[in-house]
Amino acid sequence: MSGSTARLQAISAVTNFKASSPPLNFHELSSHDLFGANVFSMGEMQKRLPKQVFKSLKKTIETGAKLDPGIADVVATAMKEWAIEKGATHYAHVFYPLTGLTAEKHDSFLSPTSEGRAVAEFTGSQLVQGEPDASSFPSGGIRATFEARGYTAWDVTSPAYILENPNGTTLCIPTAFVSWTGEALDKKTPLLRSMKALNVQAQRILKLLGHREVAHVSATAGPEQEYFLIDRNFFFARPDLLNAARSLFGAKPPKGQEFEDQYFGAIPDRVLACMLDTERELFKLGIPVKTRHNEVAPAQYEIAPVFENANIAADHQQLIMLTLKKVAQKHGMECLRHEKPFAGVNGSGKHLNWSLGNSTQGNLLDPGETPHENMQFLIFCAAVIRAVHKHSGLLRAVVASANNDHRLGANEAPPAIISIFLGDQLADVFEQIKAGGAKSSKVKGTLTVGVDTLPVLPKDAGDRNRTSPFAFTGNRFEFRAVGSSQSLAGPLVALNTIVAESLDYIATELDKATGGDASKLNAAVQKLLQEIITKHGAVIFNGDNYSAAWHEEAEKRGLPNLKATVDALPVLATPEVAEVFEKYGVLSQRELQSRHDIYLEQYIKTVSTEAKLVVEIARTMIFPAAVRYQSELAVACTNLKTLGYTFDTDTLDTITRLVKDLQDGTTALEKSLAHHGGGLLDEAKHFSNTVLPAMLKVREAADTLEGYVSDDLWPLPTYQEMLFIK
Ligand code: ADP
Ligand code: MG
Repeated sequence: MSGSTARLQAISAVTNFKASSPPLNFHELSSHDLFGANVFSMGEMQKRLPKQVFKSLKKTIETGAKLDPGIADVVATAMKEWAIEKGATHYAHVFYPLTGLTAEKHDSFLSPTSEGRAVAEFTGSQLVQGEPDASSFPSGGIRATFEARGYTAWDVTSPAYILENPNGTTLCIPTAFVSWTGEALDKKTPLLRSMKALNVQAQRILKLLGHREVAHVSATAGPEQEYFLIDRNFFFARPDLLNAARSLFGAKPPKGQEFEDQYFGAIPDRVLACMLDTERELFKLGIPVKTRHNEVAPAQYEIAPVFENANIAADHQQLIMLTLKKVAQKHGMECLRHEKPFAGVNGSGKHLNWSLGNSTQGNLLDPGETPHENMQFLIFCAAVIRAVHKHSGLLRAVVASANNDHRLGANEAPPAIISIFLGDQLADVFEQIKAGGAKSSKVKGTLTVGVDTLPVLPKDAGDRNRTSPFAFTGNRFEFRAVGSSQSLAGPLVALNTIVAESLDYIATELDKATGGDASKLNAAVQKLLQEIITKHGAVIFNGDNYSAAWHEEAEKRGLPNLKATVDALPVLATPEVAEVFEKYGVLSQRELQSRHDIYLEQYIKTVSTEAKLVVEIARTMIFPAAVRYQSELAVACTNLKTLGYTFDTDTLDTITRLVKDLQDGTTALEKSLAHHGGGLLDEAKHFSNTVLPAMLKVREAADTLEGYVSDDLWPLPTYQEMLFIK
């Protein structure tokens, strides 16, 4: 099929598609050598660095000890040699500005000599600090243009790696990005600070519990990334996807996801080739991607790595998002990471599995086998319950975005009310604690605590509830409200910090109650857990989070329901949030304020871009197509009448009415865009309450027209085509 509209040309291009990339070498894919081949790993460092230097560096990486500045030159030289062996010509400080994207500044290794030649050079100071010309990254007022300098600082704890490009490779160094005053301009700096706070407080608890040897405690994260893949030809024929990453028009296809024939179904060959290729690239970068499957919506998929240290997982997640996009393009497809690229079918999330642990005590949210471990588990679990209840507004705020608004609470993702799913057995355990402890449990297959009055623990508390925004899944919590295009850093910073605060509270209370007398610990723990669960148990809910009854119930329990971004972001400006971030040195008041402002600005920019696109597409694509068909029909109508036939003008009437609606809607939308005034929040509210509904009005008329206008005139690839032609 070929035709004149961009849409029809796209369809014929897809039909003629022949994969231009060479077939993958599957033997290479399964090879162990591939994994981490492009990473300046511990093993590589050990091989290349003098013993003392390696020891010192390892200590910094594993315990967060201060980096010895004396070793930077040696490390830089080893890193450079390794990179040049891998064909690198440049190095880049990679950083994570508040746009949520990944930024990199490339510099050549080459340095000119006085003899008119050049030598490859990479010094310790070049490794440790960079100065990107970064005046146009958002700083929310922290950095005025006259003091535009921002610095990148080497994050020793996240390994350097080689990024391959068809035309050369680059040594990439993960860095933090700060202003000249030392204030965070990025997502990594507060993440590192929050990891530190969590370690300090978790160590206190573990020592209180009598552990002698306590290794550095880290947060761990395992993100499950959902995404869509569609043919690139369709992508290019849709200005909305191209510029806003979501479709702003498109009638629901006759067949959507209602057959549920996509979920975990066979993966189409072309998509599988793309996935294998993506995995191969990620393996080289040492990213342990493990699972892949079809998701619920047509053309929707998921990729998930095995969990890692949260800071590394966050860096890796950025690389996963980049790689998904890059490799898809190689396969003639576009990867859509937006939270809601298509109305009417499921959107995409990024379930964030979170826990904390270390090498001496293991996963601290693992129920464990001994009474002692059980007590430890209950303390950490209670700390999370308290934290989530106290700061549910903050957790809502860190997943707030214009994109995620289309997904949260839409019966495909958790509602905006933050609650915790514990599973019936574990919820029962906490009920017993609340009631004053228990010595037995009716539940089968449980572990006996024995020594005290803490209730017995179920062996496998990992039952499932897909509707909860925050679920305990056996040995970790799964934060399901996170959006698919989001950086992991925001949610991680919030979780680490609020749990650190709860652990601090618990450690302090236990210290007070026992006065250092270990024999009083059991009783003190039981009393404290009872208090915590009495005060904060309201956040636990095991039922259907999608139901209307839960919304009522949640309101009775006093749980906030911050429906949209404009309701949620103001939480970042509350004193409670400022206090907790300030207290643990994660974000100063000024840093927090700047984030609040930047996220509001991003919201405004996103909706405003979308609205302008709606106007443009409605005027220049849909209106002309509709009018052409309208006049075709009118001519036919007149001709037939002249010949003496009666011609039913129903369709013409409908189209005429819809064309008017489209025109009126577009004019009204344009007017709503002209509004100015008020502060950032007022402006954002205007976009949320007035502009978005005006956009929907235009869409309604256009989507209805799609069902009337002749197929050969319709300009935009339809949902049916984008989701089902592969
Ligand atoms: P499901 O779809 O059933 O939720 P998946 O296997 O897709 O499960 O994803 C589970 C994720 O949780 C994986 O990334 C896994 O590595 C991660 N995970 C497991 N244990 C932990 C832990 N202790 N801390 C953080 N993440 C974890
Ligand atoms: Mg999951």
